[in-house]
Amino acid sequence: MKPERIVFATGNKDKMKEIRMILADLGLPVISMKEAGVSADIVEDGKTFQENAMIKAQAIARLLPNDVVMADDSGLEIDYLNKEPGIYSARYMGEHTSYDIKNNNLLQRLENVPAEKRTARFVCAIAAVFPDRGTVTSCCTMEGRIADHIAGENGFGYDPIFWLDECGCTSAEISPKQKNELSHRGKALREVKRKMEVYMSCE
Ligand code: IMP
Repeated sequence: MKPERIVFATGNKDKMKEIRMILADLGLPVISMKEAGVSADIVEDGKTFQENAMIKAQAIARLLPNDVVMADDSGLEIDYLNKEPGIYSARYMGEHTSYDIKNNNLLQRLENVPAEKRTARFVCAIAAVFPDRGTVTSCCTMEGRIADHIAGENGFGYDPIFWLDECGCTSAEISPKQKNELSHRGKALREVKRKMEVYMSCE
């Protein structure tokens, strides 16, 4: 049986907009977990972004066996801090702590660290599980460094401290369109889409 829809395991409306735009030409409607009428408390106990994306996608795929189910996992790796906050990016200093506090804390931990040692990257892993249990995955990065102060109002999370050398500003200072083109998530979505097209053409 051919799948009739793609369900993306996220509750984030902004992410859904971006995901729908990028996956549109797969020719299947893309809906959120909520729109599919499912919810689940998933323990993300993987050791990597890839493992966590797969754990989420497979948990939801068990509830929706006729759909293509996709999930992502993303975060910020700072080299000087041994890749912290990494897979704990959302939970860093507590899930309900504001990003103003989290960002200031990271700036403090990097105080007096020279620019060449402030390298960092955003990582995004995406997994897609098909009704026949086949899977495809992607994992992409956006490279940058930790700025020396907070700047910018766009984006979310750690964007105000993430300096992009090629733009000469933080990722909170570029437009949403430019961020989609450059971002870990935009790249991972486009890569997983290409792999899904190949997978579906072979089914
Ligand atoms: P999740 O994959 O939506 O759970 O995101 C994990 C966390 O990583 C977010 O809550 C942010 O803290 C951080 N993060 C992931 N992508 C970005 C981004 O594009 N900008 C800023 N922070 C991000």
